[in-house]
Amino acid sequence: MSSAAVRRVLPMAAIISNPTSLKHGLSLFCPELHSSASCSSFNPSRRFQRRNFVAASTSSSFANDNREFVIVGGGNAAGYAARTFVEHGVANGKLCIVSKEAHAPYERPALTKAYLFPLDKKPARLPGFHTCVGSGGERQTPDWYKDQGIEMFYEDPVTGIDIEKQTLTTNSGKLLKYGSLIIATGCTATRFPEKIGGNLPGVHYIRDVADADSLISSLERSNKIVVIGGGYIGMEVAAAAVGWKLDTTIIFPEEHLLQRLFTPSLAQKYEQLYSDNGVKFVKGASIKSLEANSDGHVAGVRLDNGSTIEADMVVVGIGAKPAVSPFDSIGLNNKVGGIQVDGQFRTSVPGIFAIGDVAAFPLKMYNRIARVEHVDHARRSAQHCTKALLTANTSTYDYLPYFYSRVFEYEGSPRKIWWQFFGDNVGETVEIGHFDPKVATFWIDSGKLKGVLLESGSLEEFQLLPKLARNQPLVDKAKLQNASSVEEALEIARASLPVEAVA
Ligand SMILES: Cc1cc2nc3c(=O)[nH]c(=O)nc-3n(C[C@H](O)[C@H](O)[C@H](O)COP(=O)(O)OP(=O)(O)OC[C@H]3O[C@@H](n4cnc5c(N)ncnc54)[C@H](O)[C@@H]3O)c2cc1C
Repeated sequence: MSSAAVRRVLPMAAIISNPTSLKHGLSLFCPELHSSASCSSFNPSRRFQRRNFVAASTSSSFANDNREFVIVGGGNAAGYAARTFVEHGVANGKLCIVSKEAHAPYERPALTKAYLFPLDKKPARLPGFHTCVGSGGERQTPDWYKDQGIEMFYEDPVTGIDIEKQTLTTNSGKLLKYGSLIIATGCTATRFPEKIGGNLPGVHYIRDVADADSLISSLERSNKIVVIGGGYIGMEVAAAAVGWKLDTTIIFPEEHLLQRLFTPSLAQKYEQLYSDNGVKFVKGASIKSLEANSDGHVAGVRLDNGSTIEADMVVVGIGAKPAVSPFDSIGLNNKVGGIQVDGQFRTSVPGIFAIGDVAAFPLKMYNRIARVEHVDHARRSAQHCTKALLTANTSTYDYLPYFYSRVFEYEGSPRKIWWQFFGDNVGETVEIGHFDPKVATFWIDSGKLKGVLLESGSLEEFQLLPKLARNQPLVDKAKLQNASSVEEALEIARASLPVEAVA
């Protein structure tokens, strides 16, 4: 079965300008891709270079005067950067990571996937998913950092920076001198304001292990959950709640799930799947407030239309903001947010770099500045930046946008879902197949294949997707539309690639 839909491109941008109104976009790890700023528009006047670290003579304020490299933030990107430092033999005694969290870097996407499996379905727990297991690498436990001679400060966020003196101040009052600095502070979850009930007991936001643990303790005690937000986080949490056998409602302001990426037709298939699992939908909704019961605990979600949906717990997945607060002086991007960097992740301040979710970088392929809140970019940007810092590598980061999600994966689930998307969701779409057994959507712009989403593909099929999105071959749309299966459609797309790209 095939169907085609002409669809005007939705910019994959979601900026919440007024969190009380959900009309401004929802998904947590949105790629904020803006075409208005061209890659060449970032032209820092100061020359970028690695700083030579000069140890402060006899100052006793510094625990380690050889602290040449400091990473602020101990998340996904930091873990992959640490690995790259080790690979280059320059971690031992020279690298320090300052983290807000109590845990060594871990693969954050697990928090709304295997971490939320029902307790009898083997949920993931640390140390199981420390970086870099998500990409098949070594599991870097806290001992790994010790063994590599990497200094770790846990639960001590950086609160200030002096770029002239090259020092950082932490919450506990430490003064840390750095030679080169990598900012990897990620994002924080967007919250509803306190005055509309955003901080009530039983209202959850999810960004780190502590948030996920608190969410699990509510899942254990609740019967009714309302999930606010129809993006990745909302979809993943709602699927998890089904596993916990909760009465689950998902509310969002858009017309359908994952509006930034899914076509209406694709979304309809996912919504059907969720409905088949008992999930209720309230679409096109605008939140007025979160209501409390007499104990002050959340009891429901009141909508602008006056109706209230009862809940024992509420999970809010309405987006995230780059965590830039101690670094306002460094050069922020006011279009996509975050810290502006060049193709080697250098900020406008010599010796200071930014990677992962917080970096606003030139997306070379599409000639625009982007901030990408996805783990693949966190990993790759960390590796690229560290190599550029430590070696003579001056190549420009050339990222191919890639997003994925996995839902209903717990033991006993009737249908496990795993989709991947590569490229740009621009132009017309051709959709092939149903969930039984799989679905593919192709985005075609001016005859060229620009993006492709595949659900439940084989390893070999998934490996084809980046080749297609990177090469953007001319495809025969009519032939694609007439494909009788996803396999046949992928074969048509593969045949349109240049020979050297197929290998
Ligand atoms: C619940 C969840 C599910 C996700 N699922 C997916 C998915 O399925 N697929 C996908 O591609 N992406 C997913 N993502 C996005 C992905 O996890 C992020 O893109 C990735 O973690 C970014 O890495 P990072 O290192 O830039 O930021 P983070 O991993 O967020 O790490 C930032 C770290 O910096 C710390 N920090 C912040 N401020 C300070 C400070 N001042 N001082 C010290 N430390 C500080 C934070 O506490 C945190 O530990 C998900 C994100 C979340 C939250």
